[in-house]
Parts: sequence; C-alpha cells; structure tokens
Amino acid sequence: APILNKLSANASAICSANTEFQGQLSAAQSEISALKTELENSKKEASTDPLTGLYNRRVFETMYHQYMEQSNQADEITLIMMDVDKFKAFNDTYGHLMGDQILKFIGQLLKRECNEPVIPVRLGGEEFALLCRNFKDEQALTIAEDIRKKLASVPFTNKRTGEKIPPVTASFGVAQRKPDDSLTSMIERADQALYAAKDAGRNQVKLAAA
Ligand code: GH3
Ligand code: MG
Ligand code: MG
Repeated sequence: APILNKLSANASAICSANTEFQGQLSAAQSEISALKTELENSKKEASTDPLTGLYNRRVFETMYHQYMEQSNQADEITLIMMDVDKFKAFNDTYGHLMGDQILKFIGQLLKRECNEPVIPVRLGGEEFALLCRNFKDEQALTIAEDIRKKLASVPFTNKRTGEKIPPVTASFGVAQRKPDDSLTSMIERADQALYAAKDAGRNQVKLAAA
C-alpha cells in the first residue's frame, strides 16, 4: 500500500533527523561547557593581580558598590590604605626582581591576616587597600597595626646571592565611611591619613579626621 510505504519512509526520515539533532545538541553542550570553563578562567584573570594573587582595583570597586547596595548603614565600611615605604630606593638598592618578591610576600601576608569580611586588594604598584565591612575604625586600626608590625619584623634574604635584606616597612591611612562619602572621597580621606603617616616618619598608622 503506497500510503503505508510513505508513512514508514517519513518515520525513518524523522528518526534519522532526530539522531542527527541529538548529535548536534551534545556537540553544542560540550561547546557550552568548554566556554563556561574559559569564561571562569578569564573572570579570574581579569579580577586578580598575577604577582600577588590579590584582587585588583576593579574588583575593589565592584565589591564596594555591592556592600553599599546590601547595607543600610553608610558608616559600616572602613578603608585601610597601605603604601610600602621608600620602595623606589629599595628597588635601586636590591633590584626590581627582589622588589617583586617583597610585593609577593606582602600579598601572602595580607591574605593570611585578612579574614572575611576584610578584603585585601592590590590597587597598583606598591599600594594596597583593605576593604572592611561591618567595621568600626578602632578594629581597622588594630588590623592595620598588626600588619604593620608583622611586616616590619621580617627580614629577607636574596636567595640567589645570599645577601641579607632588612625588613621593609609600610605606612597606613584609615578612613571610616561618612554618610555623604563617595568611594572617591573616602579614598581621598584615607590617602590624606596615609600622607600624614609618611610625613610623621613612615612605618605607622594614621586615622583620617572624622
Ligand atoms: P614613599 O615612602 O614616599 O612611598 O616612597 P616610595 O619610593 O615608595 O614612593 P614612590 O612613589 O616614589 O615610588 C614607588 C616605587 O614603587 C617606584 C616603583 O619602581 C616601585 N614599584 C611599583 N610597582 C612595582 C612592582 O610591581 N615591582 C617592583 N619591584 N617595584 C614596583
Ligand atoms: Mg605609592
Ligand atoms: Mg611607597
């Protein structure tokens, strides 16, 4: 019967189309999962600083804005700015590679010393920031002081030459967010405190005027 023949031909056509479709679907699925992995890697690369393994400035800004959206208290964010002292002279004396090792060490130190909700970031160069959520300025001062002391107590050795290198120090500026602060104005106030710490002789922590 011609009709039956026709139906069976249709059925087998549908069947093979279906098989082909499934093949395409599973190819698309593995492509998606490869792209997902790639995206994750790119995200990680775009958010971390390769030398220190810390988050970068971009993440710092994003996190600040996330905190602001989640919280209703404008004063629960405190910013600690940290800048390595006389680091240009350090590079000139001990070499840029050794300088890089110091920054790497500082990255490890900050990761070790900072627990949630304190997020350490490398802002750039020899400058770091600690974003503290649910923090009062006294707590931030304590953390900054701890990190300052620890850094100032660790001497280094140039592994290649065996040369002994005295500890590196850093200066810190702390600012508690004020209700009318923008991120920029909070950074400015922390920066002013940092400059005051530099002016006062470096290797110290200063709190920004309220
Ligand atoms: P101050 O105590 O006033 O902060 O003095 P300073 O020398 O640290 O400040 P300055 O801004 O004059 O110099 C910063 C130096 O940091 C210069 C630059 O070579 C060094 N630096 C910035 N980024 C890196 C880095 O990734 N690796 C190394 N080795 N050095 C860096
Ligand atoms: Mg600097
Ligand atoms: Mg410096």
